[in-house]
Amino acid sequence: MNTLLDTLRHIVGAAHVFTDGDLSAFTRDWRKRAHGKALAVVRPANAEEVAAIVKACAGHQPATGVSIVAQGGNTGLAVGSVPDGSGTQIVLSLTRMNAVRAIDNANLTMTVEAGCILQNLQETAEEAGFLFPLSLAAEGSCTIGGNLGTNAGGTQVVRYGNTRDLCLGLEVVTAQGEIWHGLSGLRKDNTGYDLRNLFIGSEGTLGIITAATMKLYPLPAAQLTAWATVPSMEAAVTLLGLAHRHLGAGLTGFEVMGQFALSLVDRHFAQLRVPLFQSAPYCVLLEISDHESEAHARGLFERLLELAMEDGCVSDAVVAESLNQARQLWHIRESIPLAQAEEGLNIKHDISIPVSRIPDFVAETDALLQHQIPGVRLVNFGHLGDGNLHYNVQAPEEGDAATFLREQEDRVNALVFDAVTRFHGSISAEHGVGSLKIDKLPHYKSPVALGMMRAIKQALDPHNLMNPGRVVRP
Ligand SMILES: Cc1cc2nc3c(=O)[nH]c(=O)nc-3n(C[C@H](O)[C@H](O)[C@H](O)COP(=O)(O)OP(=O)(O)OC[C@H]3O[C@@H](n4cnc5c(N)ncnc54)[C@H](O)[C@@H]3O)c2cc1C
Repeated sequence: MNTLLDTLRHIVGAAHVFTDGDLSAFTRDWRKRAHGKALAVVRPANAEEVAAIVKACAGHQPATGVSIVAQGGNTGLAVGSVPDGSGTQIVLSLTRMNAVRAIDNANLTMTVEAGCILQNLQETAEEAGFLFPLSLAAEGSCTIGGNLGTNAGGTQVVRYGNTRDLCLGLEVVTAQGEIWHGLSGLRKDNTGYDLRNLFIGSEGTLGIITAATMKLYPLPAAQLTAWATVPSMEAAVTLLGLAHRHLGAGLTGFEVMGQFALSLVDRHFAQLRVPLFQSAPYCVLLEISDHESEAHARGLFERLLELAMEDGCVSDAVVAESLNQARQLWHIRESIPLAQAEEGLNIKHDISIPVSRIPDFVAETDALLQHQIPGVRLVNFGHLGDGNLHYNVQAPEEGDAATFLREQEDRVNALVFDAVTRFHGSISAEHGVGSLKIDKLPHYKSPVALGMMRAIKQALDPHNLMNPGRVVRP
């Protein structure tokens, strides 16, 4: 191992190889569910150094069993970005690689290194007069490499798609330590298999993304946010249909929040002053982006809400009067996971279901869980516009949450994932598989699909150097 560490120090400089001291920022996952042990944390400065690190590790792998975990902001929620407990894994932290290499105004693209923080990319794009629409609550810490590695979703998917849809080209270091220069800014390229899309969403199991060419969009003239109460999940889905029809491509966000989820925000962060939530089982947060003017956007929003009230799918609504008010409304939505954590341990599910089937899924699964585990509390919220729910299960109010988790987690997961399967959904909508769901895939993914995934892993990373124990076992 010492020879390998010496080689790594030689490649990146001794100051960028950490082996001692408190490495928990790199070895513990965001939700503090996994505490791994790293052989070293290595911080390369460019793709050539990444390639040299991979080659060095591949060379030492037979003798040492070393493997590589790519890491960006370490905000992933599937326990895929931290090492296991073996002490034989290198954490390859990309955060020093944070340059914006180029902005191509006419091609509407920006080429960026993998370690760029998402929020910095949004700001860089805005300074250049463009919108980079990927947006999620971890944007101040997560990196574009991690966003690509997990194919992150977020709050604008209903209009702009997942990270995959925003990416035109990649630069990747393969498991053999070669650099694939695939930084194409092309919107059309049918020259065979789509290699870019293999690496996107592969969670560091096929190669290391070192840079990407991402799409930019014109900045909208105005963005408005509204908060509406709806009498049921069916009504929320009806409102979504109306919003699609009346706002078209202007609809850029559509989030649903259950009353209990909002009551937790109210209980733990009373200063946020959650509006209107006591009067309805669900609230919806809508965002519109408009290329004419704020007045035009407001007119469209008011007309939509009028129609929705006539239809009965909205019972009450407010439109934010200022950017500040809009931010406050989004802040409430983004505070739900923190409020849940304040309330105590819980079992999280990041699932997707065809939008049309969500009301039946929720009614059936709520009833099933409440029948099987009396007193259980359901925290339901998410990106309804994309059919993505964070369908979380909080322990009953009385009783010990840790005991609940220990005794009930497997049973709750099975009840929820079986229901997801009955409704033709996915057990991981946007957070990925990581090590959290690797053992669930054989049960919930078709053997044919899993067989193809194994074949791809075997072809690209035959020695299982890249993030072993995540996504798929060879
Ligand atoms: C408060 C909060 C809110 C969140 N909201 C959302 C949300 O709305 N939507 C959503 O999709 N996710 C969300 N997430 C999850 C997380 O932020 C995203 O998955 C994010 O994309 C991870 O980026 P990261 O840089 O932190 O990656 P990391 O956590 O460091 O890594 C995640 C995975 O990607 C791999 N990886 C990292 N960098 C690379 C690279 N350069 N090349 C290859 N593989 C790599 C890692 O090995 C790991 O498997 C949220 C997380 C938090 C904490």
